[in-house]
This record gives sequence, C-alpha cells and structure tokens, in this order.
Amino acid sequence: MTAKRLDGTAVAAQIRAELKPAVDAFAAKAGRPPGLGIILVGDDAASQIYVSSKAKSAGETGLRADLVRLPASTSLEDLLREVDRLNRSDVHDGILVQAPLPAAMGAGAARRVFDAIDPAKDVDGFHPLNVGRLVQNRDSLVACTPSGVIELLERSNVPIAGASAVVVGRSDIVGKPMAMLLLHRNATVTICHSRTKDLPRVCAQADILVAALGKAAFVTREFVKPGAAVIDVGIARLTDRAEVERIFAPGSPARATFDKRGSVVLGDVHPEVAKVAGALSPVPGGVGPLTIAMLLKNTLRAAEARGAGR
Ligand code: NDP
Repeated sequence: MTAKRLDGTAVAAQIRAELKPAVDAFAAKAGRPPGLGIILVGDDAASQIYVSSKAKSAGETGLRADLVRLPASTSLEDLLREVDRLNRSDVHDGILVQAPLPAAMGAGAARRVFDAIDPAKDVDGFHPLNVGRLVQNRDSLVACTPSGVIELLERSNVPIAGASAVVVGRSDIVGKPMAMLLLHRNATVTICHSRTKDLPRVCAQADILVAALGKAAFVTREFVKPGAAVIDVGIARLTDRAEVERIFAPGSPARATFDKRGSVVLGDVHPEVAKVAGALSPVPGGVGPLTIAMLLKNTLRAAEARGAGR
C-alpha cells in the first residue's frame, strides 16, 4: 500500500481562496484591510523564514502585515511595550510574537508575552483565556497548527468522530490544543509524551496518529496501524549525509534534494510509514502551509469580531 498524500499546500490554497472575498468585503466596509502585527526578536534563521512566509501570505490574501524586527538584545520590558502598542492599535486586529524568544530574555518570558497580548487579538490562540475557551469547546481563537490539522483531516474526508486518535506531544502550542480539537470532534483521544511506556504499541492503536514531538523520522512503521491517517507536524532540517542516507532510500527525491542543497527538510515520521499508512501528510507541504492559512483566517476572524468591519 502507498498512503494517500494529504496535500497541505493544496488545502491551504483552497482556504486562502475562500478567505479572499471575505477579506475584501471587510476592507470595503472598514475602509482598511484586516491587520496583523508580527514581532520577531533576534535573528534565528528558521524564525526569519517563518515570519517572512507569514507576512508574504498575508499580503497576497489582502491583509495588512507589519513586521516589527527587534534586536536579540531587546529586554522583556521593551518587548512588552511593543505588544502593548499593538494591543492599542486600531489597524492591527491580530498580534503574533514569533517563538522562540532569545534565551537571554529568561525562562518564562514567552508566557509573560503571550499573557500580555489582548485575547481579542491573540491570533496564535496562546492566551490562557483562549485556551480555556477551547477546553470548554466555546468559540475562541485556536492555535493555528492544530486547527490546520483539523482542516486537513476534514477536507481530506478522514473520519474523526468515533476514531481512535493518538497525539504524540503535549506542548501548549501543538499537542494539547490538538487533543482538545479532536476530542470536541468526538474522537477518543490519547496524548503521549516522553514518559509514555511502549509508545509504538500505543500509537499502533490509532486510526489517526498525530506526530508532534520534534524528533526527525522517529515514528517508524511499527508505530502505525495499517491504513491509519498519519499527520506529521514535525519540522527538522538534516545536514548530515550519513543520517540522510540512513533515513531515505537510494534514488529517493529527498536524497537528490540533499545532493543539490546540502540539507533536507523532514518531519517526525519516517518515510517508510508511507508503505503502511492509509493517508499521510508530507513534510514539507503538509501541516506547515496550513499553519499560515489558519493564521490569516484567525486574523480575519479577530477583525470581524472586533467589529471594525461593521
Ligand atoms: P515541544 O518540544 O514543545 O514538545 C515536544 C513534545 O514531544 C513534548 O510534549 C515531549 O514530551 C514530546 N516528546 C519528545 N520526545 C519524545 C519521545 N521520544 N517520545 C514521546 N514524546 C516525546 O515541541 P512543539 O510542540 O513546539 O513542536 C513539535 C514539532 O512540531 C517540532 O518539530 C516543531 O518544529 C514542529 N512544529 C511545526 C509547526 C508547523 O507549522 N508545521 C508549528 C509548530 C511546531 P514531554 O512533554 O514529556 O517533554
């Protein structure tokens, strides 16, 4: 069996196309587009790429996106001041502070920053008020990556109600909200983490397996029930040839990419899983584009909820 490819790039394009008329309608009513303020602190290479993609995608969908770049030496107080400025801004409906923050800001900095964002503008869905609303299955701004996974499953006609779903990873930004969203759609949900015993056996019960642990190619075929839908949230970049050759078969496109670029992007799921799973989201081209599409959707939603388009 070769797993059906769950094409996140195509689904994200579909979502953006659906958003465009609503974004235009908002702009016509409000006399301005929905606005997103993105704060990037420091010069982490991956974060630079993420924020650029987010700003570009926002612009292409008709939203206003302002990228605020702050030096790595920025103090937590200065960052909080910038958040406060965006909280008060009339033209910014959504605020995103790109994680991770520089380690020098200290432990707990990210939590203080996320707590400081106006919950009505919290398009990342990280504020405790929005998390609480999610837990209670109330209307809320929900974290973009897990809500993107739900879009991918639903639009690919993967049944969720009654399914056994296993989420590997319990972070506040992916694993926990993912589990809640699946639960609210009536899956029977198991959350796994680094202390889970006999992880492959637990995962192999799943009709839907979501891998969000941040360990390249960790989920091998023994983790997967034949025919299961497997969602790969992880993103890693390998630069070591021996490791690439260990994971990818000779002649595979990933090896060719590595030969050309000296690195290859992959997820938490080993490529051999494609032989067992019924459906599989690729990396790249799976969950990543959906995360961005859901950010745009949340920004429009925040703009409409703030009433600025009335
Ligand atoms: P975190 O590091 O915050 O969380 C990882 C989770 O995985 C933890 O709960 C940890 O358990 C668990 N874990 C780690 N090792 C194991 C193991 N050996 N067995 C079982 N569980 C394990 O990561 P994030 O949730 O932030 O991100 C996860 C991955 O998703 C990363 O690769 C990240 O880059 C990617 N990501 C992708 C996005 C996208 O848009 N596609 C967006 C966000 C993240 P414990 O709690 O016990 O430590």
